Amino acid sequence: MVSQHLPYTIDQIVKNLALLEEHFKDYACPDCINKHLILIEGYAEEGMTMTNDEKWRLLLVKCADMCRAVRKELTMTQGHKDTPRKGCKTCGR
Ligand SMILES: [Zn+2]
Repeated sequence: MVSQHLPYTIDQIVKNLALLEEHFKDYACPDCINKHLILIEGYAEEGMTMTNDEKWRLLLVKCADMCRAVRKELTMTQGHKDTPRKGCKTCGR
């Protein structure tokens, strides 16, 4: 079983990964990075339920786990509410 929506979900993950990369090139805005990580995690969790193909399911589980781990790490290490802002082109913070 593979949902017809899985290609869309994978596409959203790829787009958010590309946007995440863009943020690291210019200014690593903690808010935007967190937002894209949450979106990738959410699409990965959604995608897990859309297929019985173990290869895809394992990849999506790892993807969501990785996002969770990175978000936890960023929250623990940055305390980004107090970090001086340089100005994000996307969110303006
Ligand atoms: Zn931003």
